[in-house]
Amino acid sequence: MGYGNGQMALLVEDNAINAELARVLLEREGFVVKEATTAAEALRHAWQFRPDLILMDIQLPDGDGLNVVRRLREAEETRRTPIVALTAYAMTGDLDRAIGAGCDGYISKPIDTRTFGARLAEILEARDG
Ligand code: MN
Repeated sequence: MGYGNGQMALLVEDNAINAELARVLLEREGFVVKEATTAAEALRHAWQFRPDLILMDIQLPDGDGLNVVRRLREAEETRRTPIVALTAYAMTGDLDRAIGAGCDGYISKPIDTRTFGARLAEILEARDG
């Protein structure tokens, strides 16, 4: 089992192919994965399941994933939950926006399967350190 060690990851991604790939990679690192495909479902699942980690697509069918992040940061239950943005943009401004909204880091899409695990570990360690 990887560093996920049976912890729960909430994966928020509306694109089925991206979601399937991210799920497999999270499971490979030892996470148990719950999925959400909309902003509304993301909030519901985050507050119901209290995941140990949230991967958040920024572009969701019913809104901006960063607005979801802001709301999660305002709530006591999810104020300190690690949140990693999944962003299709490599633009510096968008990355700054993700961090500004309360994300701990970001992973760019398309997801690089070779570096995903190490990149995620790096974000989580930087946060704990
Ligand atoms: Mn999307």
